[in-house]
Order: sequence, then structure tokens, then C-alpha cells
Amino acid sequence: MLWLTCPNCGSRPVEEFGFGGELPTVPDRITDPHQRDVDYVWMFDNLEGLSTERWFHQAGCRRWHTVQRNTIDDTVAT
Ligand SMILES: [Zn+2]
Repeated sequence: MLWLTCPNCGSRPVEEFGFGGELPTVPDRITDPHQRDVDYVWMFDNLEGLSTERWFHQAGCRRWHTVQRNTIDDTVAT
């Protein structure tokens, strides 16, 4: 079972959280503000390895948290 550490509530089972997706990074080569917004919302890296993600603690403090999760072995770094 995957456990996430909420900074407000401590270590909790992943079932208490809602997955908000990976935290996107927009490449510097995209300079048009509209295209940057499109890339930010719709383009995902879907990394194999360490991924920075957003999780919402819906059964706890109802706050968003940023988590670094290894997508290969499902371990959480932060
Ligand atoms: Zn919490």
C-alpha cells in the first residue's frame, strides 16, 4: 500500500488523497504565452522514474501537496 506524508496530517494511506497529476514544466523554447498555457495544461512528460506530482488530501486537511514519487517502484521521495 502506498502511503503519502501530508505536512499537516502526517503519514496517511493514498486512498485519502486525490491525484492531481504531474507538476508540468514548460520548455523554455516555447515563448508564446498562449502556447505556454496550452503546454502547461495539456502536455505531460509521463516520466519513468522520479516524477513531481500534485496530490489533494481530500479525506484530511483538504490541501494540495507536492510529492516526488518514483513511478517505477511507487516509492515516495518527499
Ligand atoms: Zn492533510
